[in-house]
Amino acid sequence: MKKKRIATTSLAGCFGCHMSLLDIDERIFDLLELVEFDRSPLNDLKKFTRRCDIGLIEGGCCNEENVHVLREFRQNCDILVAVGQCAIMGGLPVMRNAIMHSDDPLRECLEEAYCTPKVLNPENQIPNDPALPLLLDKVYTCVDVVKIDYQIPGCPPSGETIWQALNALVRNEAPALDYALIKYD
Ligand code: SF4
Repeated sequence: MKKKRIATTSLAGCFGCHMSLLDIDERIFDLLELVEFDRSPLNDLKKFTRRCDIGLIEGGCCNEENVHVLREFRQNCDILVAVGQCAIMGGLPVMRNAIMHSDDPLRECLEEAYCTPKVLNPENQIPNDPALPLLLDKVYTCVDVVKIDYQIPGCPPSGETIWQALNALVRNEAPALDYALIKYD
C-alpha cells in the first residue's frame, strides 16, 4: 500500500493533541509503515513539500495567522480532520468570546488579560509589536473557516482514539470510533 502523506499543525491550541498522537507509544513505528509526515511540528517542516492525503488540525482560530494556515491546509490536503475540542468547538481560547460587554470587546479582553491589578504589568501596556499576528474579533472554530471532513473529539483525544481514526483514514475508510473512546462524562 502506498504510504499516505500527513501534515499536522497547531493553531490556537496547547500542543496537547500533538502530545496525544505521540501517546500511541511504540505503535508510532507501525504508523510510520503506513504514513510519511509532511509539514508538521513533529518534524519541524514549516512548509508543504507536496499535496497531502490527510491534514490534522489542532486548535481553532484566534488570529489572522491561524486563518491563513488553516486555509493553506484546506488547499493542500485531501482530507482535513479537526483534532480535539479547540479545533472542533474553540476549547479554552473560545472563553474570550464571552467577554463582550462593551462596544470594543477585543480591547476589553486585552485589558482584562494585561491591565488588571492581578497582572504584573507596571507600564499597563498591551503587547502591540508589529510582528505579532493580528487578533481576530473573536475565536472561530475550524468549521467556521473551512470545510472539515472529520472530527476527533476529546481534550485531548486519547492516543488510542487518534490511532483508530488514523488507521481508518489511511485505509480510505471513515473513522468509526468505539463509543467508549468518545464518551466523556
Ligand atoms: Fe490542548 Fe485540549 Fe485544545 Fe487539544 S483540545 S489543543 S489538548 S486544550
